[in-house]
Formats: sequence, C-alpha cells, structure tokens
Amino acid sequence: MEHSSVTPTQAPEKLTFFGQVNRMFNKAAAYTKHPEGLLKQIKACNSVYRMEYPLQREDGSIDVIQAYRAEHSQHKLPTKGGIRYEAHVNEDEVMALSALMTYKCAVVDVPFGGAKGGIKIDHRDYSEVELERITRRYAFELTRKNFIGPGIDVPAPDYGTGPREMAWILDTYNSLADDTLNALACVTGKPVGQGGVRGRTQATGLGVYYGVREACRFTDDMEKMGLEQGVEGKTVVVQGLGNVGYFAAKFLQEGGATIVGLAEIEGSIYNPEGLNLDDVVDHRKSTGSILDYPGAQNIKNSAEALELPCNILVPAALGGVITMENAPRIQADIIAEAANGPVTSQADAYLLEKNVLIIPDVYLNAGGVTVSYFEWLRNLSHVRHGRMSKRFEERNAERILRAVEKLSDTTFKEDRFDKVVSEIAFGASEQDLVNSGLEDTMAYAYQEIRAIRLEHNVDLRTAAFISAINKVATSYKQMGIFP
Ligand code: NAD
Repeated sequence: MEHSSVTPTQAPEKLTFFGQVNRMFNKAAAYTKHPEGLLKQIKACNSVYRMEYPLQREDGSIDVIQAYRAEHSQHKLPTKGGIRYEAHVNEDEVMALSALMTYKCAVVDVPFGGAKGGIKIDHRDYSEVELERITRRYAFELTRKNFIGPGIDVPAPDYGTGPREMAWILDTYNSLADDTLNALACVTGKPVGQGGVRGRTQATGLGVYYGVREACRFTDDMEKMGLEQGVEGKTVVVQGLGNVGYFAAKFLQEGGATIVGLAEIEGSIYNPEGLNLDDVVDHRKSTGSILDYPGAQNIKNSAEALELPCNILVPAALGGVITMENAPRIQADIIAEAANGPVTSQADAYLLEKNVLIIPDVYLNAGGVTVSYFEWLRNLSHVRHGRMSKRFEERNAERILRAVEKLSDTTFKEDRFDKVVSEIAFGASEQDLVNSGLEDTMAYAYQEIRAIRLEHNVDLRTAAFISAINKVATSYKQMGIFP
C-alpha cells in the first residue's frame, strides 16, 4: 500500500454536504481563469423553497411533513433534478444535490440548470394512499409558488420515488395549470402511458454501465492499476438494489463482469465465484431478504460489503457511505459513483492517493437526466421519438439491397433476401434512439473529462468540475451578465 499524506487519524469531516460539493468546486475553480464574482455566482444556490404541511394519516392522526425544493442555477431553463423521499432529507442536502445537478447537466451537455427536491419521510412507513396525499400536496405547493413547470423547473425520480409519484405530480400540475398544451413536460420519469419515454427507468443504471465501460476502455489507465482493458472479467460489488443499483448491476453482468457482492438494507451477500443478479432479486422477493442466498456468504453488517475485494465497487444507495473511517479498508481498484455523494471529500483525497480510480457521480449517474431530457423533448414535440422515420428507414434499407442486386447483376434468392432484410432493414425504435443517445452522451463526456484530466494532471472529479465550471461560465457570459 502506498504511503498517504491524508491519514485516517485526521479530524473527522466537519463540512456539510453542500460544503463538500463547494470544496470540490473550489479545487477545480483554481484551474480556471474566471473572475471571482462569476465563480461565486456559479456556486450559489439561487432559491430554496422550504415547506411544512399537514398530512392526515389513515388512522386519523396528523403528521407535519417537511419538504424542500432547491433551484441551484437558472443559467439555463428549466432547472432539473429528482425528488427523494428519505428520512434524513434536509435543506443542506437538497442544496448540495441541486448544485451537483447543475454541474452534471453541464458535464453531459444537457441544457438545464440544476435543482433537487426532497421530502423528509421514510416512504416505507406510509401507505400508498398516504404517499399519494403527500406527493399531491407537494406538487400543489410547488405549482402555487411557481416552482414547477415545463420551462421553470422539472422534477424527476430519485431515491424512494419512481414513475408512480411522477404520474401523481403530473396529474396535480395538470389540474392547476393554465397552459395544458405542454403540461406533460412538467415532470419526467413518468410511466410510458403518461408521456414517459421508453428507456427512462433503466437510464441511470445503463448510463453507469456505459460510463464504467468507457473508463475501462483505456488500456493506459487500466495498466496503471494492474488491470486488463475492458469490463469483461472484472469483479463487482454493488450497494443498493433499487432503480440505479439493479440496472447498473444488470448491465455490468451482461457486459461480462462478475457480480461477487450485493448489499441491501438488511445485509449483504458475497460469493467470489459470482452471484446471479436476477436469482438474488427473486430470492429477496420470496424470502423478504437478500441474506441466506444459496452458496453465498452472509454479511450481517451490510456496510462491510464496501470493503470486499473487487475490481469495481458501485455504491448505488445513499451519500456519505465511504468516509475516512472505512476508506483505509476499501479494496476496490475502481469506485463507480452511481449514488450521489457516496464518497466524502476527505475520503476522496485519501483514496486518490492510494491510486483508486474514482468515476465521479457528477458524470457517472448523469444517464437519468440525459434520458429525462429526451423525455422532455418528446413531451414538447408531442411525437414519439422515431415515429416519423422508423418505416422510412426500413424501406430505405430494402431499396439499398435491391440496388445492390441490380448493380451486381444477380438475383438474390427470396428467402435469403428476406433474411438479410430482417437483419439489417429495421428502423430505430424509440428505445433504440434513447439508448443510442445515452451511449453517445456518456462516451463523449468521458472523453472530454479524461482529456481535461490529462491536461491538468488532476483526478476525474476535478476534471468534471472544471468542464462544468467552464460551460456554466460561458453561459453566464453569453447572457451578458459577466464580462
Ligand atoms: P431507490 O429508492 O430506487 O433504491 C435505493 C436502494 O438502496 C433501495 O433498494 C434501498 O433499500 C437500498 N438501500 C438503502 N440504504 C441502504 C444501505 N444502507 N445499504 C444497502 N442498500 C441500501 O433509489 P435510486 O433511484 O436507485 O437512487 C439511488 C442513488 O442514486 C441515490 O443516491 C440517488 O440520488 C442516485 N441517483 C438516482 C437517479 C435516478 O434516476 N433514480 C439518478 C441519478 C442519481
């Protein structure tokens, strides 16, 4: 193990989450030449709406619900970011997460400012009827204060929320909005029948896979860690089997990686020979726990899974799980930040010194917002992606084959012709287009931040922040606000 100047005995991290994001921002800003005032404006969280409202529970008692929505930056509109339902949600957290959204959108060239919302509840403590009341009242408050709308602020799913909550938000907004023509675009991550786009559900996890695959594609970078190029054959541990973690694990497994460890709230399981993801998910559904999966070792203290030997560690649950307390015991070569803020800034510095490749959240989990952008475009254009071109592309491929036939003076046997046509002559479906746009976005953004990393000899997170700061600064300058 290399000597590290950041030792585990250092004082515990005192910075809040927003403070940590700003520390990362400051580190990157030092590599730019923007005026101090502009940097200050980029960093600032422009507006936060804090609300408290009553909820009548099914047993007749009253709870007071605390909720937030932060809009970090309006340099591009609308602002965009998820809504999380979690027991520790607080103002600092939504501000930090909204700032990360601003930088994330800039890194992947999605033309939105950053926002984030949160409701301070453990969603498992409430019935579906109560969750609907909580969500609808939240959407009502946002609408009343002009904190939501297709051109204002567009929420999406995050921890503890999904298409169901987004459909409730849409319906509430729709019933209050003056302009219903574009109302569908007031929220993304909706069910497909309610204006959602095919591919949004798996988008963040698929984006994580594309990002990890891109990082593993560079032989030079892999060799520095003594690893072979490519995802294939790499061992993986995933924390959190929710929307992001499940799909990240699924696509990594399909890409040839071996899932050796899986962590959930009730505990973790480990098998160095590999775990079958869908089998584990079925086992959890039928027994109510990930533990006691046949052939795997139980780890009762779930967080210890982060310390298992593996090539790629994917924290995909909540923030702040890798700190100076456990960082010295992390054995992974690569940390793929699927969750937001899983590594504290001190642990980040410590692990970088130990030559761990950290693929940062601000890039890696941007697949969700990228495909949300595609959904927003679909809603505003009122047409399914690919609808106008699918059949045309199919016919075109057939025409090309017929032309080849003519030019080569041959007549293809009809059955062979049909087989070839079925293999190559198909128009792209909405899902094909969405996945292709996502793949291109993740690959291009990685190459961009890797180039900055090499130019300045910095880590990937700092490179991603430099990229984001430069893009947001350009936006402000183009508005004529800053020289
Ligand atoms: P989710 O609610 O669908 O899933 C979270 C999972 O983590 C649940 O299965 C939960 O039981 C598990 N979990 C909670 N605490 C745990 C613990 N201590 N140990 C192990 N497992 C634990 O949430 P999600 O949408 O998958 O979000 C996960 C993370 O990804 C969050 O940090 C979120 O901000 C981030 N993220 C989500 C999206 C998105 O599109 N949903 C986009 C970008 C980033």
